[in-house]
Amino acid sequence: HFSHAYTDAASLAVWLALPSVVEATRGASAVLVQVYAAELDDPALAAILAQLRAALPDACIVGASTVGELLDGRTLTERIVVGLSAFESARVQVVAVPVEPGCEAAAAAAAARRLRSDGEGLCAALLLATPLSLDAAVLVGALGANLPGVQVFGGGAGDYALHRRSAVFTDAERHERGLVLVAFRGESLRVEARSYLGWRPLSREMTLTECDGLEVRRIDGERAFDIYRRYLGIDDPTRFFLDALEFPLLLSRDGRELARVPVAVTDDGGLRFVADLFEGERVRLGYGDPASIIGDALEVGDALRAFEPDAIFLYTCGCRRFLMQEDVEQETLPFQAIAPTFGFYTYGEFLGRDARIDLLNSTMVAVGFSERPRRHDSERPSDELASAADADPTSIDPYANQHARIVGRLVHFIGSVSADLESAHSEVLRLSRIDRLTGVLNRAGLDEALASELARQSRHREGLALLLIDIDHFKRVNDEHGHAAGDRALVHVASVLAEGRRSYDIVGRWGGEEFMVVLPHEGPDAAHAIAEKIRRRLEESPLPPVGRLTASFGLTVWRDGDSAERLLARADAALYVAKREGRNRVRLAPD
Ligand code: GH3
Ligand code: MG
Ligand code: MG
Repeated sequence: HFSHAYTDAASLAVWLALPSVVEATRGASAVLVQVYAAELDDPALAAILAQLRAALPDACIVGASTVGELLDGRTLTERIVVGLSAFESARVQVVAVPVEPGCEAAAAAAAARRLRSDGEGLCAALLLATPLSLDAAVLVGALGANLPGVQVFGGGAGDYALHRRSAVFTDAERHERGLVLVAFRGESLRVEARSYLGWRPLSREMTLTECDGLEVRRIDGERAFDIYRRYLGIDDPTRFFLDALEFPLLLSRDGRELARVPVAVTDDGGLRFVADLFEGERVRLGYGDPASIIGDALEVGDALRAFEPDAIFLYTCGCRRFLMQEDVEQETLPFQAIAPTFGFYTYGEFLGRDARIDLLNSTMVAVGFSERPRRHDSERPSDELASAADADPTSIDPYANQHARIVGRLVHFIGSVSADLESAHSEVLRLSRIDRLTGVLNRAGLDEALASELARQSRHREGLALLLIDIDHFKRVNDEHGHAAGDRALVHVASVLAEGRRSYDIVGRWGGEEFMVVLPHEGPDAAHAIAEKIRRRLEESPLPPVGRLTASFGLTVWRDGDSAERLLARADAALYVAKREGRNRVRLAPD
């Protein structure tokens, strides 16, 4: 692999005529040229593509607009870079397809069909697409379905954060809404693709309460933009993308950690994304932690070093360089120590195979290529086996990247504070539903549990019984033994009610000396038997010095369309009957 940062036609000609380049391309089975360009309208771009075509008539030439260019592991700005990969035995093939609005799946299927029709042995594919102008989630989904078993990787075309125009191209066509697919075939071709994120959660967990396609309208019931306004002080919707891009939403989906960068504010205060999010998903605001980014880079670097690539292609999110600034090369340069490293800064990254091609945001995708078999460890010099991550703490300059280190500490601090608050909050919630005296649910807890049981009941109709229980002549307990003994009696009754309950039964104190038991999955007969058992257990477990305690039970079962109020009213009426008929008995509400 050879890389060139364009300055002028003459220098490009000199580079193309370098003996190493000429020799590599002359004997090559295929030549892939990737061109990544900051400025689509730069007249030089067309000239470069023509010059490349003239010099390399058989090469596959592809490219994309960028948010930054990567060459020899270094980050460039506002440049055009040319990367030439010469293959010894692999075959390379290119298709470029425009995407009509709403036709992502059809376009991906068409592109995949053209590649597949060209024979067997397809093992990997580079995807360049324009996520700014199409639904890239649909695109990669369809691609995965149509390219079974093929390792897909790549990046979304960028436009230096202006959010106006991005494009993918070959030397023959350019698409501002489209995709370019490069297929790799070859018996001896090895491809190893990895990704890492390095983003850390900042905020508490929140729920996406209203989504519409690529738009998130509400988070925890609040307008999505207001979340960014409140937590991050981002007030100006017109420059929202630039202000928010270091703060993606983080979520975990099917065991994978994903980031989603909001790109714009909608008129009604929602947020637009370039990657899919679904109603009900749990998210947190995230922030890039430079320390874990660099740590992840070294770890992935180790894995790629062991793979022994001849070239490494990086497709890395533009927001990583906005976040890391000049420190960003700390994550890209280590790859150059392994193999020639080339790529660009993206809007959206692609990685995976089959049904699991992920549309990523904020992520680094690193892809190693080799056409030689991997050497056995014993054939490798020992310095190659050393881990880059272990290697050189001493080589870190304490005066450099102080900013990144401070940010790393602050992110850590915020993360710990959020975790503390979150656990305190959930403990407060738990306590607010528990009766201090008896330890069973209180009225609020019962209300909530009953409401969720009723919601389930109206879906599944598995049966549900409700018992209202009132201690008999409880005033006498207080009068004869004092209020403290009365309290002990309440604790005792609660423990008798809770005894032997199943995990899904609900027991609580409704108020005063009245209790409630909810028995899911029970009809009238079984519920009556359970109530009778509880009644007898209470009667048979006297509490000294109070002595025997009894209670009256009003029982009812769920009927179609029952609200909590109707259910309670019937139980209460049945309880009244039990009292009137002499107490210490169970009465079932009549049909
Ligand atoms: P009945 O059989 O008709 O239910 O008779 P009762 O004496 O239980 O009648 P009532 O329901 O009117 O009396 C309830 C009593 O429970 C009155 C109140 O002082 C007592 N009580 C309510 N909450 C508590 C409490 O938290 N601790 C104690 N010790 N007593 C309480
Ligand atoms: Mg009472
Ligand atoms: Mg009572």
